[in-house]
Amino acid sequence: MVLEKNDQPGGRARVFEKDGFTFDMGPSWYWMPDVFERFFNQFGQSVSDHYQLVRLDPSYRIFFEGGEHFDVPADWRQLGEAFEKWEKGSAANLEKFLLEAEIKYREGVGNMVFKPSRSIFEFVNWKTIKAGFQLDLLSDFKSHVTKYFSHPKILKILEFPVLFLGATPEKTPALYSLMNYADLQLGTWYPMKGMYEIVRGMYKLATSLGVEFKFNQEVISIKVSADGLAKEVETNSQSYETDIVVVNADYAHVDQNLLEPRWRSYSNQYWESRVMAPSSLLYYCGLDKKVTNLKHHNLFFDEDFSTHAKEIYENPKWPSKPLFYLSAPSLTDSGLAPEGKENLFFLIPTAPGMIEDDAVSSKYFDLLAEKVERYTGNEIKKNLLFKVPFGPRNFVADYHAHKANAYGLANTLLQTAIFKPSLRSKKVKNLYFTGQLTVPGPGVPPSIISGEVVAKEIIKDFAR
Ligand SMILES: Cc1cc2nc3c(=O)[nH]c(=O)nc-3n(C[C@H](O)[C@H](O)[C@H](O)COP(=O)(O)OP(=O)(O)OC[C@H]3O[C@@H](n4cnc5c(N)ncnc54)[C@H](O)[C@@H]3O)c2cc1C
Repeated sequence: MVLEKNDQPGGRARVFEKDGFTFDMGPSWYWMPDVFERFFNQFGQSVSDHYQLVRLDPSYRIFFEGGEHFDVPADWRQLGEAFEKWEKGSAANLEKFLLEAEIKYREGVGNMVFKPSRSIFEFVNWKTIKAGFQLDLLSDFKSHVTKYFSHPKILKILEFPVLFLGATPEKTPALYSLMNYADLQLGTWYPMKGMYEIVRGMYKLATSLGVEFKFNQEVISIKVSADGLAKEVETNSQSYETDIVVVNADYAHVDQNLLEPRWRSYSNQYWESRVMAPSSLLYYCGLDKKVTNLKHHNLFFDEDFSTHAKEIYENPKWPSKPLFYLSAPSLTDSGLAPEGKENLFFLIPTAPGMIEDDAVSSKYFDLLAEKVERYTGNEIKKNLLFKVPFGPRNFVADYHAHKANAYGLANTLLQTAIFKPSLRSKKVKNLYFTGQLTVPGPGVPPSIISGEVVAKEIIKDFAR
């Protein structure tokens, strides 16, 4: 049985509809299609049984300083040709860089992320030690990427996946160049009708297998017996007896608020010292006209990365010159907006732990709208039918997000694998954790993998 506090499945990948517009509320980038396929294959099904995937080409558009833009092509060789114009030798370097990234992806995603990371000994064998060197585990992303490239535009393109995953390139292990392989070779895909089709597919599969979902059931406590077994889960309206409890809600919230102190795995101080991935200011907008000069995914990287990154991680404050993301999925999928109209989704990463008020929310929307108007010629504010903001305060209220995090823990070396909050409770024998705050980490594909890893651990621990 699944107990969910909100009124639909999907969590951060929820959907909402307004006046004929359909908005995916969280994830919009469909990367690592192999992970989704593997998930459905395990039940004798395929992604194509549930939704139609299309590959986006260009994968996305980047706006640089002054509004000049560049489209990242689906074919990485074409990208190499464009790089070569900016920096001599960079086409060949891209090939080498991506070859290494592929090795990391194959070892990292094909093998290491499926480890429960309960002990360092899972990683201690010759194959993984050898792979460890190939995976560049001790180097950081920034040093790795600057070994190959120096042109600022190339660096922005290659650093974007890690920056949006929640840490600066200097603090992210070089291992995460596997994300460049995911980005530039495996590609950016889109499930027609929207990302929520993934959730619909999983929900349909789960219910067909007998899983019962109860919505509007906020868990308020997990009762543990003296012998260390979770016996009962209490919600806002009911109590449920339990054999095994798997927590997918934000780890910190459950550990600190739903368990008695003696059954908590970690201290408050532990959670306060975690480096969280950013929160976000989001705006879901209905526009009364079609847009031009934009693609499905648009990254506004016209300002300095490091200033915004410092305002997220080092000296938390509202960003002075934010980088931001704008999605216009109705350009690919006209069904997401009424005819002749456009569905827009804006996202600014913000420092975890900061809560916005209406004034902050409006100020940043005005800033984004003005910039999009200036760079693309689309009049946003004049044609706005509505805008629905969703910010840090909503992450806390809707998901009990620790420090309003949007994507869990930052991907730093000291928060990787065995250093992540454990997927098995340290005190309660039949209590497990899954999702973006435990192994392997944030993002939809890792969260799916996390579910598989915890399921296998439970089978190992309890199958007789
Ligand atoms: C704005 C945004 C954009 C993103 N973009 C991308 C992207 O493009 N691509 C990508 O791969 N990933 C993206 N991500 C990350 C991805 O969405 C998450 O990593 C993933 O969905 C997390 O899944 P989860 O199951 O761990 O947590 P969640 O989806 O948050 O699920 C946890 C669930 O627990 C429920 N809950 C909390 N407390 C309680 C309680 N007390 N009782 C009952 N239920 C409770 C919550 O309501 C929620 O439904 C994005 C995330 C956000 C927020």
